[in-house]
Amino acid sequence: MTFEFSERLKALPPYLFKELDRIRDEVKAKGVDIIDLGVGDPDRPTPPHIIEALKVAAEDKANHQYPVYSGMNAFREVVARVYKRRYNVDVVAETEVCSLIGSKEGLAQFPLAFLNPGDVSLVPEPSYPVYRSGTLFAGGVSVYMPLLAKNGFLPDLGAIEPEALKKAKIIWVNYPNNPTGAAASLEFYAKLVEFAKKHSLIVASDAAYSDVTCLDKPHPSVLEVPGGKDVAVEFHSLSKTYNMTGWRIGWAVGNATLIKGLGLVKSNVDSGVFQAVQLAGMAALEGPQDCVKQMGELYRERRGILVEGLKNAGIEVLKTDYTFYVWASVPKGLTSADFASKLLNQVGIVTTPGNGFGPSGEGYVRFALVQEVPRLKEAAQRLASLKF
Ligand SMILES: *Cc1c(COP(=O)(O)O)cnc(C)c1O
Repeated sequence: MTFEFSERLKALPPYLFKELDRIRDEVKAKGVDIIDLGVGDPDRPTPPHIIEALKVAAEDKANHQYPVYSGMNAFREVVARVYKRRYNVDVVAETEVCSLIGSKEGLAQFPLAFLNPGDVSLVPEPSYPVYRSGTLFAGGVSVYMPLLAKNGFLPDLGAIEPEALKKAKIIWVNYPNNPTGAAASLEFYAKLVEFAKKHSLIVASDAAYSDVTCLDKPHPSVLEVPGGKDVAVEFHSLSKTYNMTGWRIGWAVGNATLIKGLGLVKSNVDSGVFQAVQLAGMAALEGPQDCVKQMGELYRERRGILVEGLKNAGIEVLKTDYTFYVWASVPKGLTSADFASKLLNQVGIVTTPGNGFGPSGEGYVRFALVQEVPRLKEAAQRLASLKF
């Protein structure tokens, strides 16, 4: 028997990091002490009070059965309280919130609820690849919105092709942004909501990094815009905020019809989030938030160290107070892939080449600040030994 992948699988873009993975394994095999700043996965453990809450909840047999598909009422009410507290936004827990098995799950399934074959998703690039693959799996077509330095890595809404705009159903945004670290203002979100209303678009906002910041308040939410809930859904995650990437919990919040559609897809595909994990998530969201502040400060310290090393090597970076990424310009005359393999071969540092996130990422590499300070000092020293 031979089996052939579906057209939709075959249409996925090729894995761009294959060559880099090969070089990494080769360098490793030579015994080089590698500093891995490649993958965006927090290195620190989940705070203990959250783990304790899971332990208690895991013992309770009430949590051993199928969860409620759309999430425990109590979890959704906590999310509503979070929106009131942080953004002064009123959210109806019952109809405007849905728990997710990590936000990636919601982002990937959302297009199934609202795209028909041939409909367009307006997708920023460079970006997290799931907006594009979710669109593809739903039979939709992604039309790119380049994020350029000259526009502060925000999409230029006026530059979207009228033909694409006519067929577009969803516009995706992600701020604080992965991979660039760029932020969006409330004014930008207000313009986006107005644009979406004018062109009958759904705003799908990925807010996975809204709390990964060294500032005292979270990044703005698109739902803070008056009327934002008429057009927008926001995807949120506990993964990056509370070092919980392995736990698989997040939520979608916003327009009730958008939440309902996503919920309908989900009820046919999965059976919700393990309730013990939802209870632990509630402990995270309602418990002391000093762990969030400490991580924000730690990332600021780490950023300062790495950026100093990059500066000494003559490499420019985007300044930001958000995320745990450093978006660095590649020295003149090199491609992203050239530079990433040079960093690996010459100083044993693993990064992600920017073009892996989309064509406009060419000319950049992304460093993830997921190693402890002494390792980053070592990385900075090694970088400073390079001159461009
Ligand atoms: C990490 C990440 C996510 C997904 O996080 P989950 O663990 O699935 O909640 C979503 N969007 C962006 C931009 C990310 O970097």
